[in-house]
Amino acid sequence: MRTLLDLILPTDCAGCGAVGVGWCAECAATLARPPMRVRPRTDPGVPCWALGPYAGPARRAVLAVKERGRRDLAEPLGLALAAGLMRLRADARPLVLIPAPSRRAAARRRGGDPVVRTARAAAGWLPDCRVVPMLRVWWGVRDSVGLTVSERQHNMRGHVVAAPGAGAVSEIPGNAEVVLVDDVLTTGATARESVRALGRIRVPVCAVLVTCSA
Ligand SMILES: [Zn+2]
Repeated sequence: MRTLLDLILPTDCAGCGAVGVGWCAECAATLARPPMRVRPRTDPGVPCWALGPYAGPARRAVLAVKERGRRDLAEPLGLALAAGLMRLRADARPLVLIPAPSRRAAARRRGGDPVVRTARAAAGWLPDCRVVPMLRVWWGVRDSVGLTVSERQHNMRGHVVAAPGAGAVSEIPGNAEVVLVDDVLTTGATARESVRALGRIRVPVCAVLVTCSA
């Protein structure tokens, strides 16, 4: 019963374990700094930014979302993402967020794709911003846990595809700033394949913004 209640009403901060709030102000402050420029080993070919390093409260929050299904964190992580996007946004062009793909089986296990959910929460805070999920990972791609950098690159190469649903591309205004968003940037392999897959359908990505950079 306790476990069931915890699922419905998380009462511990996912970052520090403080009781009574899902994501406390101190942990939120760790993601409130200006986004930092990061350079993953596999260059996605566009500027990459992170709200913070993959450490401390932010890392624990990302893991809580992935491994414990903490859906409640989409709102605070989305708000942090929105603040980062406000700082990076060059001008008043429409902003389009394209979530990096996750393996569908993994997303299902987690009860929906948490990157999409966080992106939608972020878009809710920003004027003229929309989320267009259109990237998929082909079946058969192994989970990247435990793989080396080159194995990961091989694992992902050519396996990210833009699979726009009906009209997805038409949802992207011609003058839009397109930003690829993800929870964690590690080797950069997924980001690079995502940018390439979008390039193949003539959707130019301006930047990558992630919650944490490993
Ligand atoms: Zn906390």
